[in-house]
Amino acid sequence: MAIKSSELHCLNCEKSERETPLLHLHYSGEELWICSQCLPTLIHAPQKLVGKIENAEQIKPAAHHKH
Ligand SMILES: [Zn+2]
Repeated sequence: MAIKSSELHCLNCEKSERETPLLHLHYSGEELWICSQCLPTLIHAPQKLVGKIENAEQIKPAAHHKH
């Protein structure tokens, strides 16, 4: 799935920077881009991104607050 173009895409939903704001991440020596809609997934359920981010299984989810 190597998309080679000048446009950047969200690592999760593949939306382009033209469609949605993308945030720049650095992880495991890689540069990654994720959109604002997928950022909560990265924060709270990074295991869902296994296969999309290398070593995603090592990312710790943010602690859940008690309500
Ligand atoms: Zn996305």
